[in-house]
Amino acid sequence: MKAIPLNREAGKHMQMPTAPLPKGAVKPKIFPEEEIEEEAKRLFEAIGQSSRWNMRICRSISPLTLEINQLKKEKDVFLIAHSYQTPDIVYGVADSVSDSYTLSKAARDAPQETILFSSVRFMAETAKIVSPHKLVLHPSPDAGCSLSDGISAEDVIKLKKKYPGVPVACYINTTASVKAECDVCVTSSNYLRICERLPGDKVIFVPDRFMGKHIQKHLEGSKEVIIFDGECEVHAEFTGEKVISWKERMSSIGVDLQVLAHPECDAGVLEESDFVGSSELLMKEAMRLASVGSNNIMLITECGTAERVLAESEHEINLLGSCVMCRHMKRTQLEDILQALREPEPEQIIEIDEGIIHRARKSLSEMFRLAE
Ligand code: SF4
Repeated sequence: MKAIPLNREAGKHMQMPTAPLPKGAVKPKIFPEEEIEEEAKRLFEAIGQSSRWNMRICRSISPLTLEINQLKKEKDVFLIAHSYQTPDIVYGVADSVSDSYTLSKAARDAPQETILFSSVRFMAETAKIVSPHKLVLHPSPDAGCSLSDGISAEDVIKLKKKYPGVPVACYINTTASVKAECDVCVTSSNYLRICERLPGDKVIFVPDRFMGKHIQKHLEGSKEVIIFDGECEVHAEFTGEKVISWKERMSSIGVDLQVLAHPECDAGVLEESDFVGSSELLMKEAMRLASVGSNNIMLITECGTAERVLAESEHEINLLGSCVMCRHMKRTQLEDILQALREPEPEQIIEIDEGIIHRARKSLSEMFRLAE
């Protein structure tokens, strides 16, 4: 996996992921030139990265965003995108962009009868669990996740047999059938608070071993955490040594570096970090720091969060270090969304067994109850 160096001029130096140009596999409708030009300007301004997402690229994707937005209106579709999706999706066509916790609530509360989830498979499944009567479309059926694909319902059943009566908390990055075997679901915004509130002196936590260790540290002396051995292949790339080396380099030239990390990183990284939080919280904290002049920031997470900070910060911000791109998250492109909106293939429609939905929903409802 490629670590991509960042800096304030990331776009100019092509050090962030390149803009995904249309592959030509799905031909959008033909729009008048003035409409394309107007849409290209809207995209150019919203994305705000003039070298990587220049007017030529914005013009080439405009027919796609125009037709997608038109179809959304005609078919009354609510389009949800995770923060790690590319900027053309985030700023071009999404109605709601955030991290998994906020998006699971957005899917639940959306008045539309059809939801299109631009992200990896488990998130679209989560939308179906919280809104079983809605049609949930997932444009990229092959977009998986190393965490959700690394654990099965049978693995959880085995753990429950080995530790009878111990509550099981699962990270939201799991399939519907894994959620169905757990007592409560958690996200990167609420995992510490929820695990703390579970009854007893033990908790089984699946599947992220790094988050599990973080919970164990937080609950030291009050609860034992039984941890499954999964990991996010993106956040596992970062190490405490790399962070220390960046901090030393910056300190030697008098730069006060603020390190912001996602809790899917290992303990060494979290120990060296000034702030730990979900992608949404990392973004807010980076922008808050920039607003008070503390703008030399290292964001330890997937590249999408850095893209959003670069696009949305109203203040000068200097992103240092590197980000890592998730190959699963970046599978979805505008053309896949357009095709799924026009006429979805059967595998682009999320179908889950009713019994599994019922049991998985309990673990999500428990999360909403304990988190709020
Ligand atoms: S970033 Fe990690 S946790 Fe998120 S989808 Fe990619 S592999 Fe899964």
